[in-house]
Amino acid sequence: MRIIRPNFYLIMELPRIVENSPFARLARLKLGATSVAMVLGRSIHLSGASKEQFLRDPFWVAHEMEHIRQFEQYGRLGFLVRYLRDWARHGYYNIPFEVAAREAAERDAHLYAAGLPLPSAAERHPTPKAK
Ligand SMILES: [Zn+2]
Repeated sequence: MRIIRPNFYLIMELPRIVENSPFARLARLKLGATSVAMVLGRSIHLSGASKEQFLRDPFWVAHEMEHIRQFEQYGRLGFLVRYLRDWARHGYYNIPFEVAAREAAERDAHLYAAGLPLPSAAERHPTPKAK
């Protein structure tokens, strides 16, 4: 594995993953998505997808790991206030935290692929189309 930049999470276990989360269910309804992963603090909450389905998509894992890094950088409240403010200002797709997480997915997916080929575009979890 070639490490491009220092990344603390490479040497950590994956965070706690919560299936059938009521918080993620609310986000899923709000986003109109089939499945959603949502970071709260150091945990990844899922709705509409199992832990296995989530872990099978290293792009998705890398995306959520970037949100965990953002939570650590800004704190729970700092993250949530910025996230909701920027959603109102820019729309979901253009929230800076989401833009950064999409970039992290492309950059870091190989780190979470466990030696398997990366999934194709059709196999990847789609970005919600919410406004
Ligand atoms: Zn995201």
